[in-house]
Amino acid sequence: MTDRLSLTQAVALDAADPLRLLRNDFLIPTFKNSDQVYFCGNSLGLQPRGARAHVLQVLDKWSHEAVEGHFTGQAQWMTYHEQVQAPLARLVGAQPSEVVAMNSLTANLHLMMVSFYRPTAERPAILMEAGAFSSDRHAVESQLRFHGFDPATDLVELGPDEAGGTISMQAIERAIEMLGSRLALVLWPGVQYRTGQAFDLAEIARLGHAQGAMVGFDLAHAVGNLALRVHYSGADFAVWCHYKYVNSGPGAVAGCFVHERHAHTQRPRFAGWWGHEKATRFKMGPEFIPTPGADGWQLSNPSILGLAPLLASLELFDKAGGMVALRHKSERLTAFLEAMIRARLPETLEIITPSEPQRRGCQLSLRVSGGRERGRELFDYLASVGIMGDWREPDVIRISPTPLYNRYMDVYRLVEEVEAWRGI
Ligand SMILES: *Cc1c(COP(=O)(O)O)cnc(C)c1O
Repeated sequence: MTDRLSLTQAVALDAADPLRLLRNDFLIPTFKNSDQVYFCGNSLGLQPRGARAHVLQVLDKWSHEAVEGHFTGQAQWMTYHEQVQAPLARLVGAQPSEVVAMNSLTANLHLMMVSFYRPTAERPAILMEAGAFSSDRHAVESQLRFHGFDPATDLVELGPDEAGGTISMQAIERAIEMLGSRLALVLWPGVQYRTGQAFDLAEIARLGHAQGAMVGFDLAHAVGNLALRVHYSGADFAVWCHYKYVNSGPGAVAGCFVHERHAHTQRPRFAGWWGHEKATRFKMGPEFIPTPGADGWQLSNPSILGLAPLLASLELFDKAGGMVALRHKSERLTAFLEAMIRARLPETLEIITPSEPQRRGCQLSLRVSGGRERGRELFDYLASVGIMGDWREPDVIRISPTPLYNRYMDVYRLVEEVEAWRGI
């Protein structure tokens, strides 16, 4: 019988992978005349081949048609962002009217908190995870202060209760119940960026709502990674970026979800003309009448050059057969990485990401035995042989095999190279 962790097996798994040809739709950086082994989709996804054509199309249209480009042809700029809406809704599991591509993640988080974090003296608190991505924490803390509340008492950061730094569902439940009627907002990640832990979002939304709180999700590391069903989860809002697993380029236009129950909300919002009712937007009247749904939170006419790569990228998610098909491969690919590490590198690498497939995405966060310096050494060694992971202080290497362009062979190479380094 073939060893299920052998080179032969890795080659066979790649040959049998129904999604293997999707890799050809990406531009892979080269390293010494061959493909770099790229495990960094959690930070900046690779460029879809179609992105260049989509961007050039916009540049050409601009050069030939100038202002008329807003109104001509199927790709007219006036409705360009609407082309993104249906594929984006499929990607995150929402209705098209619940999603919009706009701004950046942190800007969208602020806009969402303006509408859905409405603290009172009796109910001021925000619950988030300890060690959250710095930008989310800055946004939350500044919103608290903006409303005149004190982060020292009203920003509640739930620390890990499991070995390796992950958080149990029981701990989340206890925290939400303990805050009870003081809880205004739960802001939770779909996948925690450092540990790679994924959460039961529907359950978190249910618990938050049971206490009368609003619930929002940061899906930066979950979108394009998990088979999300954000509408079904019941969240009030969600925000994410498109440059990580959605491969839409550095600083790409971000995404935002507003549940349909808020489609016609009277809640306060920060408004701009692009969120105004479409039929009368160009009457330019003084009174703001919001477009129903997520579109109503837009401020400005969107960057068409920014949306073009997103459109190109979303076509590939559809081509793959959607997130369910991608996730099917992803679970196997990450399980292969996990099995190889456990079998061949148990003394070298500690996996801090949970082992259950439903509690993680594609990423494994690895702690290198011997401390930070050894970790840095390994990271630098891998880069020197053409394997790109990423480093998170103080001592974590994140490896994210993505089903769109990574191979079982890539995982095999990684493990071989860690062994080679250990022998040096
Ligand atoms: C990547 C990431 C960000 C980055 O914010 P930008 O506004 O896109 O610069 C914020 N929060 C989380 C959780 C992230 O993973």
